[in-house]
Amino acid sequence: MNWWKGSKVKINNGVALSGCTTFKIGGRAEFFCRPKDEEELKLLINLAKRYKIKFLVIGAGSNILVSDKGVKGLVVRLGAPDFKRISLRGNLLTAGSGCSTGQLLQFCARHNLSGLEFLAGIPGTLGGNLAMNAGTRGDSIGASLISCRVMDASGRTKTLKTGRIKFGYRSSSLADYIILEVRLRLTKMPGAGIRERLKEYMDRRRATQDLTHPSAGCVFKNPEGDFAGRLIDACGLKGKRVGGASISKRHANFIVNLGKARSADVLKLMGLAKREVKRKFNIALQPEIKIWN
Ligand SMILES: Cc1cc2nc3c(=O)[nH]c(=O)nc-3n(C[C@H](O)[C@H](O)[C@H](O)COP(=O)(O)OP(=O)(O)OC[C@H]3O[C@@H](n4cnc5c(N)ncnc54)[C@H](O)[C@@H]3O)c2cc1C
Repeated sequence: MNWWKGSKVKINNGVALSGCTTFKIGGRAEFFCRPKDEEELKLLINLAKRYKIKFLVIGAGSNILVSDKGVKGLVVRLGAPDFKRISLRGNLLTAGSGCSTGQLLQFCARHNLSGLEFLAGIPGTLGGNLAMNAGTRGDSIGASLISCRVMDASGRTKTLKTGRIKFGYRSSSLADYIILEVRLRLTKMPGAGIRERLKEYMDRRRATQDLTHPSAGCVFKNPEGDFAGRLIDACGLKGKRVGGASISKRHANFIVNLGKARSADVLKLMGLAKREVKRKFNIALQPEIKIWN
C-alpha cells in the first residue's frame, strides 16, 4: 500500500533495523522515514494517522530490542540537520532532539558548559536521552531540563515546561510525544575541567561496562536498593549463552551480541535471568530496554 503517494515525503520499505540499533539485532521496519524538517514530520504524522499506520520514533537505537520479525508501521528517525541544531543564550542551551550525546558534549566542552558530563559514553540522541531520562549514578538529564518542544499525535507542536513532565528512573511522561527540541540549564566551567570530568566518566564506564560487543546497555532496571547486575551474577549467569547472545562476562546486566544474535536469543536470556532472580531473591526484574515487536 503506497499511502504516502502524491505527498513529498520519501519513505523506504523494509529497512533493516539491525543497522539502526546498537544491539545490531532485529528485523525490518515496514516503513522508514528520515523527515527533513518539522513540516515534513507533521505531514508524516497526519498521513500515518489518516491511514491508521502505527508510528514509532527511533533515536540512536541504543535502548531498543527489535523483534526478529521486524515492526509493522512507520519508524521515523530525526537524523536530518534540521533536528540537530544547537544554540546558546548565556548558560541556557537549546538543542534539537536528533543531536547525538557526543555532539552535545563536544559543544558543551567548547563553550565551557558543565552539567551533562555524566552522559559521556551513553550512546543516545538528545530525544532518546530525555524520553528515557538517561543518566548514571545519581545524575539524570531530566534534572537539567527547563522545557522541551514536542509534537503530539495530531502534528501539533507545544512547549512543555519541566513542571509538567514527570521523570522517573529511566522513564519520563513523554511517551506520547515526539520530542523536537530541548532546553537545558547548564553551569559555566572552564573547558579543561569539563574535559577532565568527561574523561573520569568514560574511564569509569570502560572499567565496569562491556563495550567490546554490540549491546543496548543495561537490559533491566536496578531494583530499589540493589543492582540487577549483582543479582544476575549471584545466580551464576555471567557468560550464559543462548544462540548468538550472551550475558556479559564483565557486567551481568548487559546482554551482548556475539555476532549473529537474534532477538529471540536475547529474550530467552532475559527470561532466564528474570526467572532465576525471582526464584533466588523473590525480586521481579523489570526491563529497561524497549522491546519493539
Ligand atoms: C553501551 C551502552 C551503555 C549505556 N549506558 C547507559 C547509562 O549509563 N545510562 C542510561 O541511562 N542509559 C544507558 N544506555 C542506554 C541508552 O543509551 C539510553 O537509554 C539512551 O538515552 C537512549 O537514547 P537513544 O537515542 O538511543 O534512544 P532509542 O534507543 O532510539 O529509543 C529509546 C526510547 O526513546 C524513544 N525516543 C527516541 N527519540 C525520541 C524522540 N525524539 N521523541 C520521543 N521519543 C523518542 C524511543 O521511541 C524509545 O521508546 C546505554 C546503552 C549502551 C549501548
